[in-house]
Amino acid sequence: MSMPIRRMPRCRSGLSKRVAKRYCVPVEEAFRLKYQNKRLRDISYVDSMTEIPNFRALTEFLIAQINKTIRTAIPTAIIMIDIDDFKKINDSYGHLVGDIVLKEIAKVIKNSIRASDQVFRYGGEEFAVVLPQTQLDEAIKVAERIRRNIELHHCCKFNENNHILVTASLGVSTITPSSSHLGFNAAIDSADKLLMEAKRSGKNTVMWESKAVKEAEVSKEERKIILEALFSKDHPHTEPEEASANDG
Ligand code: GH3
Ligand code: MG
Ligand code: MG
Repeated sequence: MSMPIRRMPRCRSGLSKRVAKRYCVPVEEAFRLKYQNKRLRDISYVDSMTEIPNFRALTEFLIAQINKTIRTAIPTAIIMIDIDDFKKINDSYGHLVGDIVLKEIAKVIKNSIRASDQVFRYGGEEFAVVLPQTQLDEAIKVAERIRRNIELHHCCKFNENNHILVTASLGVSTITPSSSHLGFNAAIDSADKLLMEAKRSGKNTVMWESKAVKEAEVSKEERKIILEALFSKDHPHTEPEEASANDG
Protein backbone atom coordinates (compact mmCIF):
# COMPACT_ATOMS: atom_id res chain seq x y z
CA MET A 1 0.00 0.00 0.00
CA SER A 2 1.41 3.25 -1.04
CA MET A 3 1.45 6.13 1.43
CA PRO A 4 -0.21 9.37 0.39
CA ILE A 5 2.39 11.95 -0.41
CA ARG A 6 1.99 14.83 1.98
CA ARG A 7 3.38 18.16 1.02
CA MET A 8 5.67 19.46 3.63
CA PRO A 9 4.50 22.80 5.03
CA ARG A 10 6.90 25.50 3.87
CA CYS A 11 8.24 28.44 5.73
CA ARG A 12 8.91 31.73 3.98
CA SER A 13 12.49 30.79 3.08
CA GLY A 14 11.17 27.81 1.18
CA LEU A 15 12.41 25.23 3.68
CA SER A 16 10.14 22.93 5.57
CA LYS A 17 9.36 23.88 9.15
CA ARG A 18 11.12 20.75 10.39
CA VAL A 19 14.22 21.53 8.38
CA ALA A 20 13.97 25.17 9.43
CA LYS A 21 13.62 24.16 13.05
CA ARG A 22 16.51 21.78 12.82
CA TYR A 23 18.96 23.93 10.87
CA CYS A 24 17.81 27.56 10.54
CA VAL A 25 17.37 28.21 14.24
CA PRO A 26 20.80 26.86 15.20
CA VAL A 27 22.35 28.81 12.32
CA GLU A 28 20.60 32.00 13.44
CA GLU A 29 21.65 31.27 17.01
CA ALA A 30 25.23 30.67 15.89
CA PHE A 31 25.27 34.01 14.02
CA ARG A 32 23.78 35.78 17.03
CA LEU A 33 26.37 34.23 19.36
CA LYS A 34 29.18 35.05 16.95
CA TYR A 35 28.01 38.67 16.76
CA GLN A 36 27.64 38.91 20.53
CA ASN A 37 31.09 37.39 21.09
CA LYS A 38 32.62 39.88 18.67
CA ARG A 39 30.86 42.74 20.45
CA LEU A 40 32.05 41.53 23.85
CA ARG A 41 35.57 41.17 22.48
CA ASP A 42 35.42 44.71 21.00
CA ILE A 43 34.14 46.13 24.30
CA SER A 44 36.88 44.38 26.30
CA TYR A 45 39.49 46.12 24.16
CA VAL A 46 38.09 49.64 24.61
CA ASP A 47 38.41 51.98 27.58
CA SER A 48 34.80 52.82 28.40
CA MET A 49 35.50 56.37 29.56
CA THR A 50 37.76 57.75 26.83
CA GLU A 51 36.50 55.34 24.16
CA ILE A 52 40.00 54.62 22.93
CA PRO A 53 41.69 51.18 23.02
CA ASN A 54 42.80 50.04 26.47
CA PHE A 55 45.91 48.39 27.94
CA ARG A 56 44.84 44.93 26.75
CA ALA A 57 44.61 46.24 23.18
CA LEU A 58 48.02 47.92 23.58
CA THR A 59 49.59 44.60 24.60
CA GLU A 60 48.34 42.80 21.50
CA PHE A 61 49.03 45.66 19.09
CA LEU A 62 52.56 46.30 20.36
CA ILE A 63 53.52 42.62 20.36
CA ALA A 64 52.30 42.38 16.74
CA GLN A 65 54.37 45.46 15.83
CA ILE A 66 57.48 44.09 17.59
CA ASN A 67 57.12 40.92 15.52
CA LYS A 68 56.81 43.07 12.41
CA THR A 69 60.03 44.88 13.35
CA ILE A 70 61.77 41.50 13.64
CA ARG A 71 60.49 40.52 10.17
CA THR A 72 61.11 43.81 8.37
CA ALA A 73 64.02 45.33 10.37
CA ILE A 74 62.09 48.64 10.45
CA PRO A 75 61.69 50.13 13.94
CA THR A 76 58.44 50.55 15.87
CA ALA A 77 58.21 53.76 17.89
CA ILE A 78 56.40 54.20 21.18
CA ILE A 79 55.41 57.41 22.93
CA MET A 80 54.37 57.40 26.59
CA ILE A 81 52.32 60.43 27.66
CA ASP A 82 51.47 61.52 31.20
CA ILE A 83 49.35 64.58 31.99
CA ASP A 84 51.22 66.99 34.25
CA ASP A 85 49.85 67.76 37.72
CA PHE A 86 46.57 66.03 36.99
CA LYS A 87 45.90 65.53 40.69
CA LYS A 88 45.65 69.31 41.03
CA ILE A 89 42.89 69.36 38.38
CA ASN A 90 40.90 66.77 40.33
CA ASP A 91 41.54 68.64 43.57
CA SER A 92 40.58 72.05 42.11
CA TYR A 93 37.60 71.15 39.90
CA GLY A 94 36.49 67.70 41.07
CA HIS A 95 36.78 64.18 39.71
CA LEU A 96 33.99 64.60 37.13
CA VAL A 97 35.74 67.54 35.50
CA GLY A 98 38.94 65.49 35.66
CA ASP A 99 37.15 62.76 33.67
CA ILE A 100 36.07 65.29 31.02
CA VAL A 101 39.65 66.54 30.73
CA LEU A 102 40.84 62.94 30.20
CA LYS A 103 38.24 62.39 27.47
CA GLU A 104 39.22 65.60 25.71
CA ILE A 105 42.96 64.90 25.93
CA ALA A 106 42.36 61.42 24.47
CA LYS A 107 40.69 63.13 21.49
CA VAL A 108 43.47 65.70 21.16
CA ILE A 109 46.05 62.89 21.02
CA LYS A 110 43.94 60.94 18.53
CA ASN A 111 43.68 64.00 16.28
CA SER A 112 47.43 64.67 16.48
CA ILE A 113 48.60 61.30 15.15
CA ARG A 114 48.69 59.72 11.71
CA ALA A 115 46.08 57.19 10.57
CA SER A 116 48.64 54.38 10.88
CA ASP A 117 49.43 55.25 14.52
CA GLN A 118 47.30 54.11 17.43
CA VAL A 119 46.61 55.71 20.81
CA PHE A 120 45.78 53.66 23.92
CA ARG A 121 44.77 54.55 27.46
CA TYR A 122 47.64 53.06 29.43
CA GLY A 123 45.93 53.71 32.76
CA GLY A 124 44.94 56.67 34.94
CA GLU A 125 46.13 59.89 33.26
CA GLU A 126 48.64 58.07 31.07
CA PHE A 127 48.41 57.27 27.37
CA ALA A 128 50.60 55.33 24.96
CA VAL A 129 50.95 55.86 21.22
CA VAL A 130 52.39 53.11 19.04
CA LEU A 131 53.80 54.20 15.67
CA PRO A 132 54.33 51.20 13.41
CA GLN A 133 57.31 51.21 11.04
CA THR A 134 58.57 54.57 12.30
CA GLN A 135 62.09 55.94 12.83
CA LEU A 136 62.95 57.92 15.98
CA ASP A 137 63.18 61.36 14.29
CA GLU A 138 59.67 60.99 12.83
CA ALA A 139 58.30 59.81 16.21
CA ILE A 140 59.85 62.85 17.93
CA LYS A 141 57.98 65.13 15.49
CA VAL A 142 54.69 63.38 16.26
CA ALA A 143 55.37 63.60 20.02
CA GLU A 144 56.16 67.29 19.78
CA ARG A 145 52.92 67.84 17.84
CA ILE A 146 50.96 65.99 20.56
CA ARG A 147 52.66 68.03 23.31
CA ARG A 148 51.88 71.33 21.53
CA ASN A 149 48.27 70.43 20.75
CA ILE A 150 47.65 69.45 24.40
CA GLU A 151 49.21 72.70 25.60
CA LEU A 152 47.04 74.75 23.21
CA HIS A 153 43.80 72.89 23.89
CA HIS A 154 41.19 74.65 26.01
CA CYS A 155 39.65 71.89 28.14
CA CYS A 156 36.06 72.14 29.40
CA LYS A 157 35.56 75.36 27.47
CA PHE A 158 32.26 76.81 28.68
CA ASN A 159 32.97 80.23 27.15
CA GLU A 160 35.92 82.38 26.04
CA ASN A 161 37.12 82.99 29.60
CA ASN A 162 36.34 79.67 31.24
CA HIS A 163 38.57 76.80 30.35
CA ILE A 164 41.29 74.62 31.84
CA LEU A 165 44.80 74.46 30.41
CA VAL A 166 46.81 71.27 30.83
CA THR A 167 50.25 70.14 29.76
CA ALA A 168 51.83 66.72 29.38
CA SER A 169 55.25 65.11 29.52
CA LEU A 170 56.26 62.60 26.86
CA GLY A 171 58.93 59.92 26.46
CA VAL A 172 59.79 58.59 22.99
CA SER A 173 61.70 55.43 22.23
CA THR A 174 62.01 52.98 19.38
CA ILE A 175 62.09 49.22 19.23
CA THR A 176 64.86 48.42 16.80
CA PRO A 177 65.76 45.04 15.28
CA SER A 178 68.52 44.73 17.90
CA SER A 179 66.24 45.49 20.87
CA SER A 180 63.12 43.76 19.59
CA HIS A 181 64.00 40.46 21.30
CA LEU A 182 63.61 42.23 24.68
CA GLY A 183 59.84 42.27 24.18
CA PHE A 184 56.81 44.25 25.33
CA ASN A 185 57.88 45.20 28.88
CA ALA A 186 61.30 46.47 27.85
CA ALA A 187 59.72 48.56 25.07
CA ILE A 188 57.28 50.22 27.48
CA ASP A 189 59.97 50.57 30.15
CA SER A 190 62.40 52.52 27.99
CA ALA A 191 59.71 55.04 26.90
CA ASP A 192 58.49 55.28 30.50
CA LYS A 193 62.00 56.05 31.83
CA LEU A 194 62.29 58.87 29.29
CA LEU A 195 58.88 60.14 30.34
CA MET A 196 60.16 60.30 33.95
CA GLU A 197 63.20 62.17 32.63
CA ALA A 198 60.81 64.66 30.96
CA LYS A 199 59.07 65.15 34.34
CA ARG A 200 62.41 65.72 36.07
CA SER A 201 63.48 68.25 33.46
CA GLY A 202 60.47 70.48 34.23
CA LYS A 203 57.39 68.80 32.60
CA ASN A 204 55.55 69.92 29.41
CA THR A 205 58.40 68.47 27.38
CA VAL A 206 59.32 65.61 25.04
CA MET A 207 62.31 63.44 25.95
CA TRP A 208 64.15 60.83 23.90
CA GLU A 209 67.34 58.86 24.47
CA SER A 210 69.98 61.07 22.83
CA LYS A 211 68.37 64.25 24.20
CA ALA A 212 68.44 62.84 27.73
CA VAL A 213 72.14 61.94 27.33
CA LYS A 214 72.89 65.38 25.85
CA GLU A 215 71.03 67.18 28.63
CA ALA A 216 72.89 65.19 31.26
CA GLU A 217 76.18 66.22 29.62
CA VAL A 218 75.15 69.86 29.45
CA SER A 219 74.13 69.93 33.09
CA LYS A 220 77.45 68.34 34.08
CA GLU A 221 79.25 70.98 32.03
CA GLU A 222 77.15 73.71 33.61
CA ARG A 223 77.90 72.33 37.04
CA LYS A 224 81.63 72.52 36.24
CA ILE A 225 81.34 76.17 35.12
CA ILE A 226 79.35 77.08 38.25
CA LEU A 227 81.88 75.36 40.48
CA GLU A 228 84.79 77.11 38.73
CA ALA A 229 83.11 80.50 39.12
CA LEU A 230 82.23 79.79 42.73
CA PHE A 231 85.69 78.69 43.75
CA SER A 232 87.54 81.44 41.87
CA LYS A 233 85.46 84.30 43.39
CA ASP A 234 84.28 83.27 46.83
CA HIS A 235 87.02 80.83 47.65
CA PRO A 236 90.16 82.39 46.15
CA HIS A 237 92.39 79.87 47.91
CA THR A 238 90.73 76.88 46.25
CA GLU A 239 91.92 75.85 42.80
CA PRO A 240 89.13 75.39 40.20
CA GLU A 241 90.93 72.25 38.96
CA GLU A 242 90.54 70.82 42.42
CA ALA A 243 86.82 71.50 42.35
CA SER A 244 86.33 69.88 38.95
CA ALA A 245 88.55 66.95 39.91
CA ASN A 246 86.18 66.22 42.81
CA ASP A 247 83.20 66.50 40.54
CA GLY A 248 82.18 62.89 39.66
P1 GH3 B 1 52.75 64.41 37.58
O1 GH3 B 1 52.91 65.70 36.89
O2 GH3 B 1 53.98 64.02 38.35
O3 GH3 B 1 52.31 63.31 36.66
O4 GH3 B 1 51.63 64.62 38.68
P2 GH3 B 1 50.13 64.08 38.64
O5 GH3 B 1 49.35 64.84 39.65
O6 GH3 B 1 49.60 64.09 37.26
O7 GH3 B 1 50.34 62.57 39.04
P3 GH3 B 1 49.83 61.75 40.29
O8 GH3 B 1 50.26 60.33 40.01
O9 GH3 B 1 50.26 62.37 41.56
O10 GH3 B 1 48.24 61.84 40.21
C1 GH3 B 1 47.52 61.28 39.19
C2 GH3 B 1 46.09 61.53 39.49
O11 GH3 B 1 45.26 61.07 38.42
C3 GH3 B 1 45.60 60.84 40.74
C4 GH3 B 1 44.37 60.07 40.31
O12 GH3 B 1 43.32 60.24 41.23
C5 GH3 B 1 44.03 60.71 38.99
N1 GH3 B 1 43.28 59.82 38.11
C6 GH3 B 1 43.66 58.61 37.67
N2 GH3 B 1 42.69 58.07 36.89
C7 GH3 B 1 41.67 58.98 36.85
C8 GH3 B 1 40.39 59.00 36.21
O13 GH3 B 1 39.97 58.08 35.52
N3 GH3 B 1 39.63 60.11 36.39
C9 GH3 B 1 40.06 61.16 37.16
N4 GH3 B 1 39.26 62.22 37.29
N5 GH3 B 1 41.24 61.15 37.78
C10 GH3 B 1 42.05 60.08 37.64
MG1 MG C 1 50.87 59.23 36.09
MG1 MG D 1 50.51 62.92 35.75
